[in-house]
Amino acid sequence: MTTDVELAARVDSARPTSGYYRQPDGWITVSPITELEQIQYEKDGWERLRKYGRVEMTNAYAVNHPLEGLLMRGGAEELCLEQIIQSGFPLTPPLIPVCDRLLNQYHKRHDPECWEGAEPAYFPQLEGRDFRGYQCRFCATTPHPTQEARDQHEGVAHKDEKSGIRTGETLADSLATALKESGGVSVAPKAAPTPDSELQTRNPYACGICPESFTRAAELTKHIKKHQEPADEQEEEPVEELDTESATGTPA
Ligand SMILES: [Zn+2]
Ligand SMILES: [Zn+2]
Ligand SMILES: [Zn+2]
Repeated sequence: MTTDVELAARVDSARPTSGYYRQPDGWITVSPITELEQIQYEKDGWERLRKYGRVEMTNAYAVNHPLEGLLMRGGAEELCLEQIIQSGFPLTPPLIPVCDRLLNQYHKRHDPECWEGAEPAYFPQLEGRDFRGYQCRFCATTPHPTQEARDQHEGVAHKDEKSGIRTGETLADSLATALKESGGVSVAPKAAPTPDSELQTRNPYACGICPESFTRAAELTKHIKKHQEPADEQEEEPVEELDTESATGTPA
């Protein structure tokens, strides 16, 4: 039998020690909310966003999804446009777990059922905006949801070309230079974004359990169910035709 005092002590020791702040530039961050830290942050002009409660930042999933608690509690509209874009949310809006439970020591990770019928977060700030992502400056691959992802792709897939261009130089310039210098080299095909390139975005819905990602929320939901099935019961899923149109939900 657990006494109330024991229970209270246990709950208190389990109390997450991080929370949301708005920094002077408008970006929202997760940081420690101990009294001393908070005083220091407030001196720096940070505003504690109390209504989004406390969050635990002790595992990799939590660290990689720092805004999940805010979004679960309806805080999508707190984010400034720049943070939404830099986070890649226009093309890859995060799914909101349906369990309605923030991660803590009793719910360390979301289970497959937490994602059952989960919907992507909605950002009213993006209403009426046309965001196509970051196009690779060397090839015609699908635009990347973040600048960071684009840079990473370029660094890996176009290591040589990239090292050849100076900062700030455009693709056209670097291609022209390359052509001039070598007297005609085989260069990467010019990126030719089609008018509906926004709809060709791949895999906006990432699984929180493994590295896989999907074009539709429904596919992700189906995929996540597999994580809970014992290996011997796993059935072959029919490969469905990808319906990319429903993936991004074009703003009307
Ligand atoms: Zn959950
Ligand atoms: Zn590329
Ligand atoms: Zn998975």
